[in-house]
Amino acid sequence: MTGTGELEAVIGLEIHVQLSTRTKMFCGCELSFGDQPNVHTCPVCLAHPGVLPVPNRKAIEYALLIAAALECEVAPRSIFHRKNYFYPDSPKAYQISQFDIPIAGAGRLGDVRIHRVHLEEDAAKMIHVGESGRIQGSDASLVDFNRGGTPLVEIVTEPDLRSGAQVREWGQLLRATIKQLGVSDVNMEEGSLRCDANVSVRPSGSDRLGTKTEMKNMNSFRFIERGIEAEIARQKEVIASGGKVVQETLHFDPSTSELHSLRSKEEAHDYRYMPEPDLVPIAPTRAMLDAAAGALPELPAGRSRRYREDLAVSDSAALQLSFEVEWAEFFEGVIAHDTEIEPRAAANWVTGEFAAELRKQGDQGLSETRVTPDALGALVKLVGSKRISHASAKDVLAEMVAEGADPLEVVEERGLEQISDSGELEAIVATAIDENPKPAEQVRSGNEKAIGALVGAVMKATQGRADGGEVTRLLRRDLGL
Ligand code: ADP
Ligand code: MG
Ligand code: ZN
Repeated sequence: MTGTGELEAVIGLEIHVQLSTRTKMFCGCELSFGDQPNVHTCPVCLAHPGVLPVPNRKAIEYALLIAAALECEVAPRSIFHRKNYFYPDSPKAYQISQFDIPIAGAGRLGDVRIHRVHLEEDAAKMIHVGESGRIQGSDASLVDFNRGGTPLVEIVTEPDLRSGAQVREWGQLLRATIKQLGVSDVNMEEGSLRCDANVSVRPSGSDRLGTKTEMKNMNSFRFIERGIEAEIARQKEVIASGGKVVQETLHFDPSTSELHSLRSKEEAHDYRYMPEPDLVPIAPTRAMLDAAAGALPELPAGRSRRYREDLAVSDSAALQLSFEVEWAEFFEGVIAHDTEIEPRAAANWVTGEFAAELRKQGDQGLSETRVTPDALGALVKLVGSKRISHASAKDVLAEMVAEGADPLEVVEERGLEQISDSGELEAIVATAIDENPKPAEQVRSGNEKAIGALVGAVMKATQGRADGGEVTRLLRRDLGL
């Protein structure tokens, strides 16, 4: 690749999802996180001689659910392979995975095509300790076999992503989708969702792929976004200075923003894949496929589309609400309060002022707050019907969040009803103009921005009980604009 033309980034993802089944993929050991090491083990997951794997039916059902959510084609018969490698995290010296016939192929989520979805087992967890680690004076690696054999679904995308930000957004959509299915905790910090990013660059508009590097396992989509952006910049620089991108595996350190090479192509494994002779093919029955399709809840992508298209909710609020079921349900409870409530305004209140007030008052979650969807609906209606101003509504909201107060009662107790008598408001506006001759004169001579000071004066005089739009209208009228 030469020349000075624009380069575009090309990114494909490999996402590992730990399934939250009760037991492991091929044995009856319970799954656990954070338990004492090596208590959830048995001869099967420790690879004693002569043992046989038995597939976890629930894991297959969960994989079919993921495949259905990602609109994938399910293989009538898929098979397991042994992926051979020698490392202490795998007592068998191979991982049971799927190779050329995965459980599901071609699908899509949003604007990204899915290449394949396959089932496999997780490796044991390695804990490396050094001089400063738990074993004093010697470097050592500890192995916790609790994780070994946990059911994993690997999702591989086509190289359809073009930037770090797009990867973050799409990754969050995928995570929300899988969370909604209830098949995984999708907790990146605990490793129940792990994402590798393959990155290359090429001349914009080209349909050939450039040489890619692979970035391993970062524990948040924000870090992945930053890592990808750093790698795109590095590759562009390499090419701009006449060099070639070398295929390698990289690690991005979020604390220093540095990229380190883990291994090059020459050191890449040959896994000597071979069919697993101890397992029969997975051949899902019609009933299993129907069950998966029938069990699909409304997923984030569809929900966000419905909010935008049917309810005219803003793009960002629709996305925010549909990513978390609790928030979506809360929002739907708010608009159920009264048919006159505008969903768009309600969505803005829920994701804007309400969410901010919850954060402000001790980082409350929806499960802790004393505000019910019905009460917030009542507040949104009071604003929508102009009985109270936006400014008053914020005060009422603060009281609702603090004490679970009823909005109507607060409005009545504190006399917050908006001034609806236009004569009264006109008089207050006239006084504000008299008492603030300087901004008034500025507005008259064409400086529209100066009107802010007068609006402020009216709001102060009415203690926020005036409709901002109406105040501005009256001021403009009286100042001859
Ligand atoms: P490998 O054999 O190295 O694992 P695959 O063909 O299996 O490569 O692809 C793995 C992932 O990398 C997929 O998500 C795919 O979309 C992505 N990918 C493949 N080639 C490229 C490339 N040149 N640039 C960016 N992503 C790529
Ligand atoms: Mg691959
Ligand atoms: Zn076991």
